[in-house]
Amino acid sequence: MHLARVLRAQPGQVFDVVANGFLHRAEIFSADEHEVVFTLHEELEADAALPVHLVMAVFKFDHMEWGIEKATELGAARITPVIARRTEKHLAQAAAKRVERWRRIVREAAQQSRRSDVPEVNDPVVLKAALGMVSAERKLLLAETEQENSLRAALETEVATVALAIGPEGGWTADEMVMFAENGWKNVTLGPRILRAETAAIAGLAVCAAML
Ligand code: SAH
Repeated sequence: MHLARVLRAQPGQVFDVVANGFLHRAEIFSADEHEVVFTLHEELEADAALPVHLVMAVFKFDHMEWGIEKATELGAARITPVIARRTEKHLAQAAAKRVERWRRIVREAAQQSRRSDVPEVNDPVVLKAALGMVSAERKLLLAETEQENSLRAALETEVATVALAIGPEGGWTADEMVMFAENGWKNVTLGPRILRAETAAIAGLAVCAAML
């Protein structure tokens, strides 16, 4: 067995393992080349996901995937990729297949960051469909055009669940912004500088982590 060969597993060694969705301290009871048997000890405090649903436009895959990985480390509960008006055509076409890779990235990032759960990554959809999938209590559109309302201020009154939307490299179009507004989303800013989409996702989650 892999563990037995790679780690020279020996009875008595202690590991942290995820079992049935919970992080446990576990001790090797017996090990041979076919089988490693663990005794599960106490459940460890594994931080539950942040109750944040990221609605993320599809943009250049290398940047986007970096953002997805970091968002997982920061605790995002769910990621819905959106084919935005300004998502480049070839990316929009490739997105449906690419989602398998995104799911692998979140699995690995969840494991690496010792999350006891793995964020859900939805199939990529157009904005209208994505808006219908959001049930969060507070829906916040990260917008570089917003000057007044900050994300921080929007989280100051208590809230249980949050959705954050991040646009593509070219930003959301005016009609997309209208669609958000009609669905109860509020524009918020992360400050006066224009951030790359993946930076906005990370900064937005960090603010949520501090405020929720
Ligand atoms: N339209 C811009 C670039 C968009 S940046 C331009 O080219 O001028 C990509 C996404 O990051 C935006 O859609 C927005 O969701 C987010 N973003 C970037 N800077 C931001 C800021 N200062 N505050 C909030 N969101 C921001």
